[in-house]
Amino acid sequence: LPDPRRRLWDGADVKRTLPERDAHSHKGSHGKGLIIGGSPLMPGSVAMTARASLRSGAGLIAVSTDPEAIPAISPYVQEATFVEGRDGGQVPDLEGYDGIAFGMGFGRDSKKENVVERLIEEKETPLLVDADGLYLLKGFLPALEKREAPTVLTPHPGEFAHLSGLSIKEILNSPFSHSKNFAEEHGVYLVLKGPSTIITSPDGEQRVDISGNAGLAKGGSGDVLSGILLSLMMQTEDVWDALSNGCFLHGTTADLLVQDGHSKVDLLASDVIEGLSRTFRTFS
Ligand code: AMP
Ligand code: MG
Repeated sequence: LPDPRRRLWDGADVKRTLPERDAHSHKGSHGKGLIIGGSPLMPGSVAMTARASLRSGAGLIAVSTDPEAIPAISPYVQEATFVEGRDGGQVPDLEGYDGIAFGMGFGRDSKKENVVERLIEEKETPLLVDADGLYLLKGFLPALEKREAPTVLTPHPGEFAHLSGLSIKEILNSPFSHSKNFAEEHGVYLVLKGPSTIITSPDGEQRVDISGNAGLAKGGSGDVLSGILLSLMMQTEDVWDALSNGCFLHGTTADLLVQDGHSKVDLLASDVIEGLSRTFRTFS
């Protein structure tokens, strides 16, 4: 018998639940997001997250990164602003945001764990943690239960293995039950990425997104997904639908691009960002 707490999330679900853009809105209505990540050798990650977020409707995006990385990021995403506070291990001011995304291209130096501590203390802002942020978060998992706003973790199987202590093989053999156990234990939304992506809520409900193709198996795809998810999380109170819709829009954009114009070989993560226009025109 199919499990009623587990289901496929498809285009009809997206059309039904994706919020319409209000004709009377202003930039403040669409969320002010903070993205903490990037480093001198990995500036592209955070640049793509920021651009994907704005292309997905975010009203304002601020980036907290190493000052040396700023000249590489800002020409790619001129709409973003930068905040101070990454010098000498300082943490940026976390007040006043509708959502925070953390970790892409950040590096895994344990000296940066102070950022994680502050993010967990900032318990009222929805928080998404990806990539290097997941590595830094590992020692703080028990503290996540203090958070009041949603916490979203977006690992691929390798990152989930590190976080959970399971092997990649164990995860791939039973991705649903391991996701569910982890999400319930830590009170988080878990987005387990892969050719199919399993999205699990803190109370153990599960949705599956089967969109996307092997063109996404390339550096940067996850950074783009994080930007889409950050934006959609800020546009609605319903994080659960926002995450499901974001995964679908990301994969479907890649599918539309390889049907027409691109191939699975040449597709770049930045093409997916620019391709979001078609997907939003179709599904919103
Ligand atoms: P990351 O590993 O963090 O770069 O994230 C990769 C992103 O691309 C995730 O959203 C995956 O679901 C997606 N992805 C990677 N490979 C495939 C594939 N073969 N088919 C569909 N989606 C994929
Ligand atoms: Mg990644």
